[in-house]
Amino acid sequence: MQGFFDENALVAVQTTQPLDRLLDYRAPEGGCHLGAFVEVPLGPRKVIGVVWGAGRGDFDYSKIRQVIRVLDVAPMRDEMRSFLERCGAYTLTQMNAMLRLGTRAPGLGDPPSMQKIYRLGEGEPPRMTDARRRVLEACHDMGGLSLTLKELAESAGVTTSVVKGLVKTGAVREEQSPRDTAFAMLDPDHGGKDLTEDQEEAASMLRAGQASLEYNTVLLKGVTGSGKTEVYLEAVAECLRQGRQALVLLPEIALTGEFLTRVEARFGAKPAEWHSGVTMTERRRVWKMVAQGQAQMVVGARSALFLPFQRLGLIVVDEEHDTSYKQDDGVLYNARDMAVLRASILGAQVVLASATPSLESWNNAETGKYSRVILNSRYGPAILPKMKTIDMRAETLPSNRWISPTLRRAVQARVGQGEQALLFLNRRGYAPVTLCRACGQQIACDDCDARMVEHRFLKRLVCHQCGESKPMPEVCPSCEAVDKLAPVGPGVERLAEEAKELFPDARIAVLSSDLYGTARELKGQIEAIAEGAADIIIGTQLVAKGHNFPLLTLVGVIDSDLGLQGSDLRAAERTFQLMRQVAGRAGRAEKPGTAMLQTFQPEHPVIRAILAGDEEAFWKAELDERRAAAMPPFGRLAGVVLSGEDVGKVFDLGNHLARNDTPLRRVGATVFGPAPAPIARVRGRHRVRLLVKAPKDVMLQRALAEWAAQVQLKGDLRMSIDIDPQNF
Ligand code: ADP
Ligand code: ZN
Repeated sequence: MQGFFDENALVAVQTTQPLDRLLDYRAPEGGCHLGAFVEVPLGPRKVIGVVWGAGRGDFDYSKIRQVIRVLDVAPMRDEMRSFLERCGAYTLTQMNAMLRLGTRAPGLGDPPSMQKIYRLGEGEPPRMTDARRRVLEACHDMGGLSLTLKELAESAGVTTSVVKGLVKTGAVREEQSPRDTAFAMLDPDHGGKDLTEDQEEAASMLRAGQASLEYNTVLLKGVTGSGKTEVYLEAVAECLRQGRQALVLLPEIALTGEFLTRVEARFGAKPAEWHSGVTMTERRRVWKMVAQGQAQMVVGARSALFLPFQRLGLIVVDEEHDTSYKQDDGVLYNARDMAVLRASILGAQVVLASATPSLESWNNAETGKYSRVILNSRYGPAILPKMKTIDMRAETLPSNRWISPTLRRAVQARVGQGEQALLFLNRRGYAPVTLCRACGQQIACDDCDARMVEHRFLKRLVCHQCGESKPMPEVCPSCEAVDKLAPVGPGVERLAEEAKELFPDARIAVLSSDLYGTARELKGQIEAIAEGAADIIIGTQLVAKGHNFPLLTLVGVIDSDLGLQGSDLRAAERTFQLMRQVAGRAGRAEKPGTAMLQTFQPEHPVIRAILAGDEEAFWKAELDERRAAAMPPFGRLAGVVLSGEDVGKVFDLGNHLARNDTPLRRVGATVFGPAPAPIARVRGRHRVRLLVKAPKDVMLQRALAEWAAQVQLKGDLRMSIDIDPQNF
């Protein structure tokens, strides 16, 4: 029988240790199939692996260790193995690390069993405490889902005995339940909306691509509020009719709540969810149901791309330009590009949706590699916001104030009419810099090349690089002067203070990821704001991403110049996207919206392009510039970051690599650097970067691998290779 091994087998094992090959084992009693999940011994430990092929034959198998057992889960499909191989080859990642992405199912080997679960019971407990109230709230917030004892206690931040106490009073119910219950069926014909002519045209194009059952990628571009979501849900419907599974990737887990509600309205039931906010029990269930083909639709973060779908027919990448699709730790993959890879292996469809596509995707549509559908107008009476600049050179502002008189009047007018205003500032915390007025020193992180940012709500200084924090000091750490530390510049918390002074009667809400303990709290806050619980919203980047605030009619961008300062070639593209996205938050219902951009350089070409809303012109200019410089998407880039505690050794290694560039020169690639990496020190480690630039159609990965293999990483030196880096 082909693909069945009863003597020996080659196994890809899942381990965090560096391991550049597959391992040979004796087959277990009864043999094993290709793709089977197995448990194998590795050193003193037992690890999970996948049977990747036949044993190599040139071993004395009597001396080799044996597969312990075959796990009781569906084997990994050929398609998935090939996806992991190709994704690994693209990102230059070893298979053991790839496998961690592809097998990240908690408790994979556990037999299905019964477990105690907890849900809301009846009545109030006779004695209510804070801890008890939190447990009841946690139960309530989970809706129909139920939690295990540990999960419920953790989610409420209490000990398990508090939960057990509530069970005794009857306010919480304890039940026996099988671990893996099925998902409710989605009905593709449940609640479809009547589409406008434009939308229908777009939807039928997606449906046709879906019905072809062949690989195709469509760029769905449409202004915010044009109905992109409605349209791609039609592609999902068609996919479900074909009996295939659909995956929708979202850039931000805070967005999933609103999205799940929409899916439920459209298909009559909720889809499966997969992201860091999902409980372990639920993840185990999703993983299994996806593998069995029972979960018809999954909504998730980028890692959902590695779920073991049985017959995946569609991958939607919503807000495809979003930089969070690029994983920046561990395996450096871009979920958007890997979605295209996975779909091309499977014969599935990819829909890339965005109001402001990435230059790469736009170019792929221009050259015909992707097809393209455009929605030009907003749905219904909602019209695009008017865009204006506020020339800050002409505004009079006291020091340490950032809301100009012009913006203040506009906010007052809107709030006075019962509408909402959003003040956007892409800076978390109270102030970006804390400075000693006696010695002039700024407080920096001990371990990173970054400033500490004051977070006044937390009463701490936080490093946004490594997450390290310390209490706000009373004396200057450099000169020990007392009471001389002063905040410099605005963060959202400081802006909120100013807004409270200027608008004493308004209800002000601050939306910033670090002010909310859990994804659930953030979700609750966003829902409340959408329903009108605030007059003025102060927010970071978080609010730019696709939330629907129907009452919002004014967006004020506090510092439009912020993104234009970096040396980053993508700065213009990012600023353009962010400003358009933020402005798109205004006027989504009946009332027309306005966006006002505070800027000191109203004549800057990017600001002018944003104002004119002339996207095609902006992209064309950007593409021309990239073409002239042979930069992506017209050339290829890879970043190589070397790190270590001794900066001299790190640079020596970098120089050594730069000198020995024959493997790269052979394919026409050039090395730049070594230079300090964009963040030159993180967690006490110095970082040095080399950039490799190559013509578009060369086998860059092979040359890179050969080049990198010339050096041996000694001691604490590390190298990480980033194909298609985001920052260049
Ligand atoms: P986008 O994804 O492009 O931002 P959405 O799909 O979220 O746009 O649509 C914006 C709003 O308009 C949503 O509330 C949506 O339900 C509504 N909408 C869009 N198209 C229709 C339609 N054909 N019928 C009814 N409501 C629609
Ligand atoms: Zn730090």
